Amino acid sequence: MTNLERCKRKLTDDSYCPLCNREVETINHTLRDCVYLRQYWRRIVPQAHLNTFFSSSVQGWLRQNLYSNILFRANLPWKLVFSSILWHTWKNRNDVIFTGSSLTFEQVLSRGIAWANYYNDGWMTGALGTHSTPIPTPWSNLEPGCFCLNIDGAVSLNSGKATIGGLLRDTAGNFVFGFSKFTGCVNSLHAELRSLYIGLQLAWDYGIDYLQVQTDCKQITQLLSAPNVESSPIPLVRNIRKFWSRAWSINLIWTPRSGNMAADKLARIANCSSFDLSFYSSPPTELRDILSSDALLVPM
Ligand SMILES: [Zn+2]
Repeated sequence: MTNLERCKRKLTDDSYCPLCNREVETINHTLRDCVYLRQYWRRIVPQAHLNTFFSSSVQGWLRQNLYSNILFRANLPWKLVFSSILWHTWKNRNDVIFTGSSLTFEQVLSRGIAWANYYNDGWMTGALGTHSTPIPTPWSNLEPGCFCLNIDGAVSLNSGKATIGGLLRDTAGNFVFGFSKFTGCVNSLHAELRSLYIGLQLAWDYGIDYLQVQTDCKQITQLLSAPNVESSPIPLVRNIRKFWSRAWSINLIWTPRSGNMAADKLARIANCSSFDLSFYSSPPTELRDILSSDALLVPM
């Protein structure tokens, strides 16, 4: 929510824009009118839209740009560039609030344009939204003797309650153990880190010495592969790193959500009325369908 909306709901008493601190943060301010954004929009908005770009109502502005048939720099549909930049602008504004870090607007622009290019290429070749590339299996890269730990966190949009889940399987896809747990109200990154930490503890206690951890959260893989991870400002990251350096071999890889459905399911069945860990030595009923469809993907 913008600060204006949060103020109305008494979640804050500061309705001002976190970027410029000069004006009330309405949705059009945060996406278009903030003094920091205006100068950049002016540089990239196609001439044909520039006249009305800063004067239309939010709905009119979105409609006009999202339905535009104009090309950006002669090769990209402006509607793709516009929507990608909007998304990154909003994401950047949230990063300022939740992580204290922010991109320069130059970086927001270049990411937005890179995404637009990606979508444009996908549409041209029909590669998006189809299964033209093989679905990766949780076991695609597993070497003999290596166990596979999938982890996930889920945060309810309504209640803000976060739950985590994970499971360990062997190279043949056999279920070794699973877990789920309620973690209170934390953000999704924290939930993901929590599930990694608990998954590692359980795998260590189980006596595993060769492990591939799979997460669908790119931020985790980035955080843990950072060069200065030992001095990360996030205590949980430092704790995970300490665990990591024990006498075992672990690698962490990113997997698309389609490869992480079982962990996602476990996070979603966690019992939110207690902080106790639920440990499963055999698969809970809710997981059986996913496990058997995952099993069909085991490479022969
Ligand atoms: Zn502002």
